[in-house]
Amino acid sequence: MQSHANHPDNSTTINLSAIATAVNPQRLENDLATVARFGGRTDGGVTRLALDNNDVRARLWLIEQASTLGAKASVDAIGNVFLDVPGSDPRLSPVVTGSHLDSQPTGGKYDGALGVLAGLEALRALKQAGFTPRRSLSLVSWTNEEGARFSPGTSGSAVFCDVRSLDETRQVEDSDGISLGSALDTCLAELDAAGVPRRPLATPMHAFLELHIEQGPILERDGVSVGVVEGIQGVSWFEVTVSGSANHAGTTPRAMRRDALEGACALATALREATRDSEDRVRFTIGKFTVSPGSVNTIPDQVTFSIDLRHPEAATLKNLEATFSKLTQRSWAGCHATLIPLSRVEPVAFPATLTTLLDGTANELGLTAPRLVSGAFHDAIHLAKHCPTAMLFVPCRDGLSHHPDEHIELANAVVGTQLLAASLASLAQ
Ligand SMILES: [Zn+2]
Repeated sequence: MQSHANHPDNSTTINLSAIATAVNPQRLENDLATVARFGGRTDGGVTRLALDNNDVRARLWLIEQASTLGAKASVDAIGNVFLDVPGSDPRLSPVVTGSHLDSQPTGGKYDGALGVLAGLEALRALKQAGFTPRRSLSLVSWTNEEGARFSPGTSGSAVFCDVRSLDETRQVEDSDGISLGSALDTCLAELDAAGVPRRPLATPMHAFLELHIEQGPILERDGVSVGVVEGIQGVSWFEVTVSGSANHAGTTPRAMRRDALEGACALATALREATRDSEDRVRFTIGKFTVSPGSVNTIPDQVTFSIDLRHPEAATLKNLEATFSKLTQRSWAGCHATLIPLSRVEPVAFPATLTTLLDGTANELGLTAPRLVSGAFHDAIHLAKHCPTAMLFVPCRDGLSHHPDEHIELANAVVGTQLLAASLASLAQ
């Protein structure tokens, strides 16, 4: 299987199947088991919170792997760890892959770790297959993706891409009042002691590819080993308040009631109906619903509920937001409603140049790799502003993640790593 790389000035061909064959399932399995021991739990999960001692041990382990790759390890001011494999043309910006090593408080072994370790195995496979990259290849582990200890998450990628400032990020405190900055300084001191040099933030990249577990049920349902992610859906949060009037539950006739719960139920149903699309791409969730005064024999005078609305396209999100606004302006069971926007994250569409390269590489490897959209946030959302970015997803059992029972099939992880390695080769040539 021969592939012409996308560089017109380079006529060299890459043997993609030799690269795929060089991906070693045992090595990947061993690495997953090794990293799962840093913060390993008796229930099979991991507790490896950002910048805690386990996270620092996992970073030091990753840095130790640089020597077998012929790579140089370095760390930037927010603690992102890089392993750089030099290319034959040092003037060119690198092709980068990676994910994160921190976990949720009761997290699984694969969320984040798989992307880092698949990247590591991909670089080893490329070396073993005798592939000499023209561009440098880099593996990165981003700091505090989860946001479980220090909120918000994706600190490493956001600071690297200049989406958030380093100073503001350093001031974030965990529940014990320890600042991210002081935890980071402890981590950096350990890496300094191990002789790891510093590197600047925001260094240019030719492309970034992140492999991650899907954290959803689609790929497993479709019985495929890997999927090409074409974007990350946007999300809008709202709070809706419906106001009526409280009165005696036994004495007030129907025509004289302004029951806030009756209005809220009708409004909630109308909002949900407005989001029903034949393609099933809109995600609409009411996850909080509060009734007051909350007494058995009093007509409710106020109901507040939350809305989590997601869609891959900004225009659709906007249209739905406008519809929500119109609907809340109506009278509901004689009650008045208000809609307050709480937050908004724009959707990201990964560039077609990269997603078609992933499609084409999968095709050349004889793999079925359907397109899908990410329902969850990832570091790639910030990298997409920095350089051409895309993701690969590997199925996880029952779509379960952020849970000790999170599980993947090794065979699927291997296929994902093969596609990652072959795609990195195409991009780096
Ligand atoms: Zn993750």
